[in-house]
Formats: sequence, structure tokens, C-alpha cells
Amino acid sequence: MIKVISTRNENNEVSISQAIINGLADDGGLYVPLINDEKIELDKILDYSYKEIANTILSKLLVDFSLEEIKECTDKAYDDKWDDKSIAPIKEYSKGYICELWHGPTSAFKDIALTILPHLMSKAYEKENKSNRILILTATSGDTGKAALAGFKDVNNINIIVFYPNEGVSDTQKRQMCTSLGDNVEVIAVEGNFDDCQKMVKDASVNKNIINFNKNISLSSANSINIGRLIPQIVYYFSSYIQLVKMNKINLYDKVNFSVPTGNFGNILAGYLAKELGLPINKLICASNSNHILTDFFTSGRYSLDRDFYTTISPSMDILISSNLERLLFLLSDSKTVNELMTSLANNKEYIVPKEMLDKMQESFLATWCDEENCKKTIKDFYEKENILIDPHTAVALKASEEFYDQNIPCITLSTASPYKFANDVLSCISDNIPSNSLEAIKALYNITSISIPNNLLEIYDMPIRFKEIINKEDGIKTITKKMEAMNV
Ligand SMILES: *Cc1c(COP(=O)(O)O)cnc(C)c1O
Repeated sequence: MIKVISTRNENNEVSISQAIINGLADDGGLYVPLINDEKIELDKILDYSYKEIANTILSKLLVDFSLEEIKECTDKAYDDKWDDKSIAPIKEYSKGYICELWHGPTSAFKDIALTILPHLMSKAYEKENKSNRILILTATSGDTGKAALAGFKDVNNINIIVFYPNEGVSDTQKRQMCTSLGDNVEVIAVEGNFDDCQKMVKDASVNKNIINFNKNISLSSANSINIGRLIPQIVYYFSSYIQLVKMNKINLYDKVNFSVPTGNFGNILAGYLAKELGLPINKLICASNSNHILTDFFTSGRYSLDRDFYTTISPSMDILISSNLERLLFLLSDSKTVNELMTSLANNKEYIVPKEMLDKMQESFLATWCDEENCKKTIKDFYEKENILIDPHTAVALKASEEFYDQNIPCITLSTASPYKFANDVLSCISDNIPSNSLEAIKALYNITSISIPNNLLEIYDMPIRFKEIINKEDGIKTITKKMEAMNV
């Protein structure tokens, strides 16, 4: 049976339901599933749909959920909100495969987990029922915010507040969030970057005054620090592999690579868990933009915050503190080591992992990065040569897959957002005529490519802006306290 424990203390074991409700562990660590001999039998899932693969994987990991409960959740999550029946379709191009993860209700890969997390959380809440309400605090670099707001809209007993960097998201992303409906949602802009928003949420989760403020409200998170976000993301690694087998592109048990556009290290960590569960993955390619702290780390073993922060056209990867990396560090060492490394990060703004750990990291991961110019060139070239339009995040990963191209090992590049979410920047790669307004850019992109525009991205231009609040990054605790007072339970 798979145990769930904190990265900061092996003895801090909780049920998976409790871990989903808590978000962050009370010792400041992250919950991880300890996978030992549990394996997904690939030959059994060959004819399964995405949903059936999800049921198989989730029932392996969510040990206190019954299969019936899991089926109820996957039925609600992976339904006709998705504009592609296979949920995560594969596209073949001349040198590999793209797995599109953005056919959900907000056109970003965050929908994979955030369409199901609210249902998992409601079920967990029924099991553990400790308080009257859950308040979900979420930091976003753009895509998590809207996907969480859509997923948790009007869910019973749950409120959600989303914090986003005021200058750090695309015009479309901002509009998506600030037009959100639902009586239980709040959206707040922060004068700072994503790391500031994430710190605000983490600080609040362990702040004694906030925790004790109202015993009837418990805090949780919809960020990938929540294990309930991570687990559903394992599914598309399996489903895309199975699709290649079914397409006769690989034999069952052949190895593949995955190239993953990485920010908070959640997506790629799900790939690592897929590997632990027996998926034949050769390497996971960790692809970064100009904020390439992870490339440096996987190359040298030194994680250093002593660097400049860049705002790029792939904003969901503009992150210096990749939270989920802590989970990998733990899986490759122990909680004593993790505590030492995290203390060093807090005090010295860096840590260095021992040589054996670096070797283990390099057994499973490759890493590289791509600057803005190469990102744009990749979008242009790929559209011209392959007639497939990709967004800037996907382009970063595609470029990385080219760099590590191996004709004997097929590579699946994970495509994480619809190009229409970043219409201005994508348009600027394939045209000289760029309107300043994002709606005009979406339409211009359509006129050139004839690729259909996701409905959810058009609707928001007809909706009123509901949320306009902007706060300083120092005012997180104060703001959250005020919102809790207003919740009045
Ligand atoms: C969130 C996001 C990423 C980064 O994923 P992580 O799990 O944070 O590494 C990449 N691309 C897009 C479009 C995203 O929304």
C-alpha cells in the first residue's frame, strides 16, 4: 500500500484524503506518495480510454478512495467540457510526437488536474470532515488561476482566492481570471512576481494567527504543492505512451523520452512518478526558458537564487523557486537531507546536493533551456515546416527535444497551452502585423491559420471585469485575514 508522508519528516504520515485537504504539510514540507513495488501493468491498459487509465492509476494511489468514488470523480472531470474525446491527443510530426494537454475548459494543461481536484477534495472532505469550510489559497503564474477558478466555482463548502503577479501574466490570462463567475471566488493582483505570490500562500498556510483565526475554516491549496494536483497528471504520461503503442509507432515496453516545459516542476515530477510506477521512460527532459535555474541545477548540482529574474513570453515558467523539486530531492534522499538543503536555501539562497544525488538526478533527467529568440524561431519554423501551431511554453520544450534528438528513442513533447492563450506573441512569430489588443490578435491568428479558437477564450471578451483589487506583496496575511472575516462562518 502506498504511504503518504511529508518531505520534511518521514514520520509525518497522513491519509491521502488528509493530504489533499491540507495542501501543504504542517511541518512546511510537501506530501509525497512512497511508491515501492506498485506497478501499473501496461498490457492490461492497452485498450483503455483516458478515463479508464485514470481510474486504474488513481485507485492505485488514492488508497482511501473506493473505485466507485474515483469513477464518480473522473466522470465529472473528463466529460464534454473537453473539446477532444481522447482528452490528451497525440500529434505526430516529422521528428516525434506532441501530446496536447490543453483541450479542457480553460485551454491550459492545468485543466487536467483542476477539473478533478475539486471532486477529490469534496470526497476527501466528506471522509475527514473536520471543519465547516475549506479556503483554498492559490498562487498563479497565469494558468493555474483560471483553471482553479473554473474547477472550484460554486463547489459546496469551498472558497478560493487566487493571487497573480500584476505585471506577470498575459492579457488573455488576466481577463480569463478577472471575469470569473461564482460566489465563492476571489481574484487579487499582487505587486510582485510569481515567487512572491507563492511565498504569500506558503507563509499563510503555516501562519499561526491565520490557522487559529477561525477553527471552522481550514486552509488548502490548488497549487501543484497539493498532492491532489500531482497525481492526476501521471495519467497522460501513460495514455500518450499507450497511444504510441496503438499507433504501432513503438512496441510495448520500448523506452521513450518526454520533453516537459517546466516551471514549478509539477508536470515533470508527475512524469517521474509515472516512471516509478513502471512506465518505460528513458529520460525526462526538463526544459526551461531564460529563468534557467533548473538547467543549471541538473547540470551542476548547485541550486542558486543569486541570479536575475526575467519576464518572458512563456510566463508560466517564469519561476525561480520550483516547489515540487523538493519532492524529487526527498525521493532521492531523506527528510534530514531535505531539511538541510531547504535551510541552506533560506539562509544562503543556495544549496548544493551531494555527488551521489546528482548522479541519481542525471540518471532520470536531462535539462536545457531556450532564450526568447530561439523560442520565437521554433514557433515560426514548426508552423512553416509541420503546419502545427504551438504556444511559447510548448516551443521551449520542443526546442529541448530537438537538442536531445535520438533517432532510436521517440520523444513526446508535452504541449501545455493553446497558442490562442498567447495570441499576441505567437502572432508576432508568424506575421508582421500585430494588433495591440489581444482579441484582435486572436482573430488575426485565426485568419492566418484557420485553426479553431477555443470558445472559452472568446467568451471572456464579452464579460464584465469583476475583480480589480491590487495589493502589495507584504500585505498577504492582512488581506487573507480580511477575506476570512468576510467569509463569516
Ligand atoms: C504551469 C505551466 C507550465 C509549467 O508547469 P509546472 O508544472 O509548473 O512545471 C508550463 N506551461 C504552461 C502553459 C503552464 O500553464
